[in-house]
Amino acid sequence: MSSEVKAAETFVEKPRTLAALRAEIASGRVKATDLAAGYYQRIAQINPRLNVYLSLTKERALEQAARVDEAAAKGDPLAPLAGIPVGIKDVLVMQGAPATAGSKILKGYRPPYDATAVARLEAAGAVLLGKINCDEFAMGSSNENSAYGPVRNPVDTERVPGGSSGGSAAAVAANMAVATLGSDTGGSIRQPASFCGVVGVLPTYGRVSRYGLIAFASSLDRVGPFAANVRDAATLLGVIAGHDPKDATSSLAPVPDYAAESDKPVKESGKAGLRIGVPTEYFAEGLDPEVRAAIDKGIAALDKAGCAIKPVSLPHTKYAVPTYYLIATAEASANLARFDGVRYGYRSPKSETLSAMYSHSRDEGFGAEVKRRILLGTYALSAGYYDAYYRKAQQVRRLLAEEYLRAFAEVDAIVTPTAPTPAFKLGEKTGDPLAMYLADIYTVTASLAGICGVTVPCGATKAGLPVGMQVLAAHLNEGAAFRVARAVEAAEL
Ligand code: GLN
Repeated sequence: MSSEVKAAETFVEKPRTLAALRAEIASGRVKATDLAAGYYQRIAQINPRLNVYLSLTKERALEQAARVDEAAAKGDPLAPLAGIPVGIKDVLVMQGAPATAGSKILKGYRPPYDATAVARLEAAGAVLLGKINCDEFAMGSSNENSAYGPVRNPVDTERVPGGSSGGSAAAVAANMAVATLGSDTGGSIRQPASFCGVVGVLPTYGRVSRYGLIAFASSLDRVGPFAANVRDAATLLGVIAGHDPKDATSSLAPVPDYAAESDKPVKESGKAGLRIGVPTEYFAEGLDPEVRAAIDKGIAALDKAGCAIKPVSLPHTKYAVPTYYLIATAEASANLARFDGVRYGYRSPKSETLSAMYSHSRDEGFGAEVKRRILLGTYALSAGYYDAYYRKAQQVRRLLAEEYLRAFAEVDAIVTPTAPTPAFKLGEKTGDPLAMYLADIYTVTASLAGICGVTVPCGATKAGLPVGMQVLAAHLNEGAAFRVARAVEAAEL
């Protein structure tokens, strides 16, 4: 599929809210089958320009939509996502549908089962439109590492949508789905949400099952939703969250009604307003002044809504990027060992001997960034370096987590920029992987600490590029993050 675009174009279109769509489906005014067909039409029109969808699951979607229409016609109570068109990042498996993880090495692989998050969406009535482009094995911050070509930002097609879940964010911004699923290991939901002007959720580690998520770095990987507004994102999280016996790290904690939580004002009458921490270290050197100005306005809006704003300090932030890139690459090197040309997808034709088959398949199947990370990770784990690098990184990770816990004893949520800059131009950073890694500074800390967060649109630059505020909360306190994000959203900055 070609994604050639001559001049910058824009494809932003706000989808209708979940509540409005459900009401229309329940009353019979809108048929789920027509809605799905309409979305497929829009995808056919603009996907060649944006390169968001890698494959469509039309048959499955239309069968599900027909079931929803039948239930609505009978007047049966409708499931929470009945008829809602949703797209799935291509790192989550769907039975019988291609699963590429943005890599050539998985070309042709069709998994025999559904990821838990996918199965839960469908059980709640969602209509799954197809699989969405992303950086190869979710490694990247711009979507330029996909073996299937980059995704373009619907706000400005000369710019990246962010990554690795750039396609999932772009799909919502361009109304190619009402909501989508992505994955976040070091910022891959929050940063693209910020670049495309949509809402993205990083659930607490273990809140959403990783069963059926193609692994990048298992101790950091999370599955979470994108939507056009906070309440819809909260509703989706409520559907996919909860214990799963198929993922031993999934939390047993009961799942609150996140949508209802998000409805609570930040200052309830007769109570003190939520306490918001602003970490000094996140407003230092390297932060684009326009991003800073937008976030400052967001903080002022929270103040006005009745929150108590306090400075907090997270002094280990400066070690977060190297710590993340040690742990993530170490785990990736182990997780990606399974792609050997035998069990999944691509096998090199140069297979004279077994070991030639392994090495040629991996050499031809993996892209440059994935190879770089396998090398880095293998090095960090090797005897003699393990203590100096990997163990040290684990120790710093613990310090970062403790620092957050101390901060959350004082405040209910912490607000920061999501990324130091707005969306950058395609090709701008591809020659400098280190610059790309350093831009993850504001997102990797929460990944390492296991805490949760929401990125919410918080104004734009003069050129109209979206800026996202990151709202972080303690483990399993997604409700607080949603409330704060709702208040920022309501300020219409
Ligand atoms: N940009 C980060 C990386 O390249 C985060 C990726 C992610 O969260 N999957 O590793």
